[in-house]
Amino acid sequence: MGWRDFAGTFHDYIVETMTNHKGEVLEKGEITKVLIGKFPQLESKEEWILPSDHCINHTNKGACYCAETKKAIFERIGYGKYKVRQHLHKLDSN
Ligand SMILES: [Zn+2]
Repeated sequence: MGWRDFAGTFHDYIVETMTNHKGEVLEKGEITKVLIGKFPQLESKEEWILPSDHCINHTNKGACYCAETKKAIFERIGYGKYKVRQHLHKLDSN
């Protein structure tokens, strides 16, 4: 399993969680807190759940397939701060 696939395993969970937070600016810690509140099984993987892997305006070596595409979940607006995009897409959707 490649790094991209690994980051991608969290994508749909984040989409489901962020549906109620569209347009909001959240910090990384807030994002993981609400995510784990909804999906407690992710707690042991918390350190691997990185909003920066799912950004329209940012990518990195381990980023999700959504990075810099229309499926990106967040817009990075500052250090550790992310704005939830208005239209959220699961990875396998069109
Ligand atoms: Zn993603």
